[in-house]
Amino acid sequence: MQQNAQGITIALSKGRILKETLPLFAAAGIEPLEDVHTSRKLIFETTRPNVHFIIIRAVDVPTYVEYGVADLGVAGKDVLMEHGAKEMYELLDLNIARCKLMTAKMKDQPLPAGKLKVATKFISVAKQYFATQGRQVELIKLYGGMELAPIMNLADAIVDIVDTGNTLKANGLEADEFIADISSRLIASRLALKMKDDIIQPIVDVLADTVAANEART
Ligand code: AMP
Repeated sequence: MQQNAQGITIALSKGRILKETLPLFAAAGIEPLEDVHTSRKLIFETTRPNVHFIIIRAVDVPTYVEYGVADLGVAGKDVLMEHGAKEMYELLDLNIARCKLMTAKMKDQPLPAGKLKVATKFISVAKQYFATQGRQVELIKLYGGMELAPIMNLADAIVDIVDTGNTLKANGLEADEFIADISSRLIASRLALKMKDDIIQPIVDVLADTVAANEART
């Protein structure tokens, strides 16, 4: 797909965020022309001829927006914090996919004194968090299944997303320290805001109204 100066490309995160994102855009009259859950495509035309969705892994969304290849994007605050947003703006808290970023450890086991070993996929966030706490840590990068690390003695603690806490519980862990509240955010590339404001602003306005209406209902 050629980048279309007259249109916009919106990068959406696959997975649990996507299900909650699509109704927000549907309220703005933007719906994919195909079922994104069954199609293997990555680029989708929508009911608005000048708007395309690309549906990619959440961690890649900030990269597409940062480079201005996608004009708008939807990604979790966890992903944005870890990425370290450059060349992009956070326009709106969409108030979906809410969860918390926490440390966790084996249930009822005190953490060892001295330097902690912490496993996480959020290396940058964890580094910052423990630095502000003045705690010495060795960070171990993992890509998933963080709960396994304390069980197998790879790490003393983890930094991970907690929603219901069921995953921690099922693995004999407990949430320990709160790091940040997480929800999905609408982001825009700096360039897009400058060049395509006429297309973007009306979409942002409808999304903001829809989010406000959803909040009022809960
Ligand atoms: P839970 O068992 O409900 O606490 O869910 C925890 C797991 O689900 C975590 O390990 C995360 O990988 C994933 N998860 C839950 N909520 C979110 C979210 N909003 N965004 C990304 N991942 C999530």
